[in-house]
Amino acid sequence: MWDNIKGHQQNKEFLKSLLQGGRSTPSLLFYGPEGVGKRLLAKAFAKSFLCLGNPLEPDNCRSCHAMDAGTHPDLVQVAQLAPGKELLIEQIKDMARQAAYAPTMSTHKVCIIDGADFMKAPAANSLLKLLEEPPEYWLFILIATDINKLLPTILSRVIQRRFTGLEDRDVAAILAEHQVEHPEELARLAAGSPGKALAYQQADALMWRERALNVLENAGNPAIMDFISNLEWLDKVGNQEGLTFLEMFSLLLRDGLFLKDGTKCQFFNIDLEPRLEQCFKLWTTGQIEKTILWTGESYRGIRARCASKSVIEALIVKISLMGKEQDRD
Ligand SMILES: [Zn+2]
Repeated sequence: MWDNIKGHQQNKEFLKSLLQGGRSTPSLLFYGPEGVGKRLLAKAFAKSFLCLGNPLEPDNCRSCHAMDAGTHPDLVQVAQLAPGKELLIEQIKDMARQAAYAPTMSTHKVCIIDGADFMKAPAANSLLKLLEEPPEYWLFILIATDINKLLPTILSRVIQRRFTGLEDRDVAAILAEHQVEHPEELARLAAGSPGKALAYQQADALMWRERALNVLENAGNPAIMDFISNLEWLDKVGNQEGLTFLEMFSLLLRDGLFLKDGTKCQFFNIDLEPRLEQCFKLWTTGQIEKTILWTGESYRGIRARCASKSVIEALIVKISLMGKEQDRD
């Protein structure tokens, strides 16, 4: 069942057992990294839950058709208006108003609340009221990345199901289904998240990775200012691109650390191993760690809308000066 969704075997088994036990399911919380399939499984479960036929083999009823077409009247979805934005109290209240109505097609209603970890206190309390006394034909499924941001009172009202990253080969298989080039490389970079891997593909992450590696390989260049001014891409780098560059920069540096301590099995950029060995030969562990911290600061700078070009320039200069200081020692 739900074979088209890769991984998450234990969660699938658990959800299947809920369906076998009838439809008196308590509210659920799916939490774990972004892009691993929480939403996909929530929707697949909702389809079964609302099915008018056999929920363990949902396919051909009116409800299933409506679900596939995205027009099911008994599925209510609440989500942030944009990624990373707050889930508003008006949205929760709107959903609560709909709770007053009985299901129209199925015997139950399902409400999927995406970004449940992005609520401020008023919205969270409003949701809590619903969870405390849910209308009997309603099922709530909350979706969150960071469980620590949810009120303990909400957590005590839901069954928590943790989702983890997928195996690289499952991610690569999903990418291959989407006809993405270089599925293995992207799967490793995305550390188990097919959603992230697809986003990396859209962002041309492998090209940015090459640029990031080129910068690291030239960190010791004595004419660093000339090197920077010859980086043609740097002149027109946008903020989103700057963030992708820094993400790749950071993953390369992490591999540098793995090289130093010999844990190569965790490598993000296994295909670049010989170049990375050469690149980090003269770096100390401390220098790599420091550079990872600076990269994080640069990332936050661009997120706070500083211009990517100057942030990246400053980072490269800093790294190159660090090398010179060591030369003097
Ligand atoms: Zn059905």
